[in-house]
Amino acid sequence: MCGSVVRVTESAPLDVDLALLGGGGAASLLLAALDRHGVRDRRIAIVDPVRRRGQDRTWAFWGHPDTDLDPLLSASWQQVEVATAARRRVLDLTPLRYAMLRSGPVYDRAAEAERRLDATRVVAPADVVRDDGTRVLVRTGDGRSVRADWVLDSRPRPPSRAGRTTWLQHFRGWWLEADRPMFDPARAVLMDFRTPQPPRGVSFGYVLPVSDRFALVEYTEFSPDLLTDAGYDAALAGYRDLLGLDPAGLRVREVENGVIPMTDAPFPARPSARVVRLGTAGGATRPSTGFTFSAMYRQADQVARALADGRPPVPAAAYPRRHRWMDAVALRALDRGGVGGPDFFDRLFDRNPAERVLRFLDGVTTPAEEVAIMNSTRLLPMIAATAGDAAHRVRDRLRPARPALAIPPAVVGDAVGAE
Ligand SMILES: Cc1cc2nc3c(=O)[nH]c(=O)nc-3n(C[C@H](O)[C@H](O)[C@H](O)COP(=O)(O)OP(=O)(O)OC[C@H]3O[C@@H](n4cnc5c(N)ncnc54)[C@H](O)[C@@H]3O)c2cc1C
Repeated sequence: MCGSVVRVTESAPLDVDLALLGGGGAASLLLAALDRHGVRDRRIAIVDPVRRRGQDRTWAFWGHPDTDLDPLLSASWQQVEVATAARRRVLDLTPLRYAMLRSGPVYDRAAEAERRLDATRVVAPADVVRDDGTRVLVRTGDGRSVRADWVLDSRPRPPSRAGRTTWLQHFRGWWLEADRPMFDPARAVLMDFRTPQPPRGVSFGYVLPVSDRFALVEYTEFSPDLLTDAGYDAALAGYRDLLGLDPAGLRVREVENGVIPMTDAPFPARPSARVVRLGTAGGATRPSTGFTFSAMYRQADQVARALADGRPPVPAAAYPRRHRWMDAVALRALDRGGVGGPDFFDRLFDRNPAERVLRFLDGVTTPAEEVAIMNSTRLLPMIAATAGDAAHRVRDRLRPARPALAIPPAVVGDAVGAE
């Protein structure tokens, strides 16, 4: 259905204007944006050993309604709950809304864009990428090659050096179908911290209802280590019971697993003159939450606009530098035990309008709003974490960079399953 699939030989590289290495989330959003902005006159190649189709993940994100994504959404909510042992808070997100997007419609739209852009698929892994400053030569694992003016690279990559704090967001979700109404489709549960907390890290459950009988229920941890398979099932069953859902009336329709890096380790967005990294590999994953989608969407739009205007396809940084610093401090405070995770998020939502917190987590608040956010956290542990972070940075400058061994390989790929 999409563009064309070609055979290129070593002696005759495929010449294109743009080569997309990786055809997952970031590339799918980019293809749709190129189509939306009417970029028609570019030769485009997509290099990926896998053609992404169907349901392999569910994206939850917040944003303003009425975007081009609206027709693809499975559900959206104006109200969300944040729960701790002490209270259940209902937040009105106006003017934003929380939304759920299954991957299938995103990949379908990208496939349609790919066809309209007349892009070429190279179904092989990109291997060597050589940038001479004017053009980039990409060699694939099976000996083919593509030569491009610009490479947009979203292949999973480890960070360029180990982080000062390296956590993972890891989770398992069940798509549950109930034999009678069990869910409230008017409201999603954003974070429910009533789950038993791990010795090091934070855990929470959440519920994304599509109807009163169908919902995604997930158990998530922000912590340094993964659980076992049985560990995720036990935690998720425990959360289901905490919600008072009767297992006898429920069927697990699909299972979703994921591991996302949460680290202050750097993911360079511009490794060379004509190579731009997008998606998780380019730093679009917010270290303090693992949320990635909004930054990927924003950057796809920026790249497409730039090309439509005849400018280089280089987006703004996924998050401002000061946000990356604040995330490094927050992660450190959580990791070193100075701040409890449920307390940290509870105070954020208690002392700020929900909309400000969500825009902060997307990296789009003003410095004045960020001061208000910082003031809502516990001062002493944050000061200690700030001092610790500063000392660690000085130490890092004085000694050679450590290689990025701290993130397990599973994180730079995806652990996703569906049953
Ligand atoms: C199960 C799951 C759920 C998630 N849910 C959310 C969410 O709710 N909200 C949110 O904000 N974020 C979420 N994320 C995080 C993030 O949005 C996704 O991981 C997103 O897919 C990242 O997009 P990407 O393009 O960076 O990586 P991917 O989508 O993983 O795409 C990378 C692509 O690179 C390809 N590739 C690998 N090796 C090569 C190679 N050598 N050459 C060429 N191609 C290669 C892969 O085949 C793949 O298609 C989730 C992640 C997972 C795993």
